[in-house]
Amino acid sequence: MQRLTILRIDQFELPIKICNVYGFHNKDLTLADRKWDCPDCNTKHDGDINASINIKKFALDNQNLIGI
Ligand SMILES: [Zn+2]
Repeated sequence: MQRLTILRIDQFELPIKICNVYGFHNKDLTLADRKWDCPDCNTKHDGDINASINIKKFALDNQNLIGI
């Protein structure tokens, strides 16, 4: 039998606009910007991948679990 874990995050979090490395908040980013470079740590982000990493982080933080 498979176990399924559902992680929820607050709908007001903006995972696309936040650098998953150090948490820089890119206020100028729009949803049309699929790729962006973090001006803080120079990481090149793909919007969807960056967002999915952030969603996982937020969800694990909210449940006090240890994640990446
Ligand atoms: Zn960064």
